[in-house]
Amino acid sequence: MSSSSEIMKLSPGAVIGILGGGQLGRMLAMAAAQLGFHTHIYCPDERNPAEQVTDRLSRNDYNDEAALVRFAKAVDVVTYEFENIPVESVEILRQHVPVFPSAQVLRVSQDRLHEKDFLNDIGIATAPYVAVATMDEAAEALKKIGLPVVLKTRRFGYDGKGQAIVKDVADLADAWAGLKSNDVIVEGFIPFDMEISVLAARGQDGDIKCFDPAENIHKNHILDLSIAPARINADLRREAVDIARHIVAELEYVGVLAVEFFVSSTAPIFRVNEIAPRVHNSGHWSIEACPTSQFEQHIRAICGLPLGDTTLYGRAEMKNLIGDDIFDMDIYLKDPDANFHHYGKMQARPGRKMGHVTRILPTVK
Ligand code: AMP
Repeated sequence: MSSSSEIMKLSPGAVIGILGGGQLGRMLAMAAAQLGFHTHIYCPDERNPAEQVTDRLSRNDYNDEAALVRFAKAVDVVTYEFENIPVESVEILRQHVPVFPSAQVLRVSQDRLHEKDFLNDIGIATAPYVAVATMDEAAEALKKIGLPVVLKTRRFGYDGKGQAIVKDVADLADAWAGLKSNDVIVEGFIPFDMEISVLAARGQDGDIKCFDPAENIHKNHILDLSIAPARINADLRREAVDIARHIVAELEYVGVLAVEFFVSSTAPIFRVNEIAPRVHNSGHWSIEACPTSQFEQHIRAICGLPLGDTTLYGRAEMKNLIGDDIFDMDIYLKDPDANFHHYGKMQARPGRKMGHVTRILPTVK
């Protein structure tokens, strides 16, 4: 992990390696270019959103050891834009080049059980949970936690995939069969009032800067709208930010990390649902709404540069453009308040994140 004596400062002209070529990699590469850095994307996929905007590209599998070593030797630092990179690949890379965030952080956040154990160990509330490997164990856990519960695969879940709500004992068998996994957690269902997220950044020197909490509204398990600041009072906003600060400090994290919370009206008011060791969809508004975007902040952190100001210019609203929504492009281009982003994806499939639009409204305190 890092300490102030080990700061690795990069100067413009250095090459930032990014694992993953999705829209997050694309926006990281654009922020890197703004600061004068080159980027080298490593991504197995054909036609990925980042390739339009990066200097160099390695199209190789994440398990290709020789390709990983070549990549490591061609860049000055490595980061990633999604957390389902094999930890073994990061272990190979870090023998040749600094990798931020660390393999240790990746290990914690890739597994919902390790993640929740870590959060509870540092005194942060989560939903109650039990790890199970069989349906009988799930039935026992369900009795212990009480209905309703959410079954979640421990690894590789996103946008509601790999999970099922069980409201009645009779539904358990179907829910269990649907997960197709023996590595599962049974989690208490939290009847939350709101979902929020905090994007927290920690520099190599230990400095921490957080963005205002965003309120997140989902449609079909996919983020639809993020509103910043979240419509909770200022004391609660500060409390959520303090929890995020605590997490990045405990992890000795370097880069931007997203913390997703359930907010309830009764104690505990905040429960952390999950953490993502990367820039996050719920922080895209920061591109126009703050002096430093989440993407620039991440680049600053991993390059050993000072973190930037995260003050909101006004109330921000970011809407995801999913699937066919992207065909409304002309409407957004004619709207003077709309900041339109296209991710360069040529096929609009249902559920696919194609772009987003951010509006800044006058702040209401
Ligand atoms: P996740 O993949 O854990 O982020 O879950 C996706 C979404 O499912 C969350 O954003 C919530 O809307 C919902 N959800 C997940 N876990 C729970 C829970 N324990 N209680 C209530 N809703 C949940």
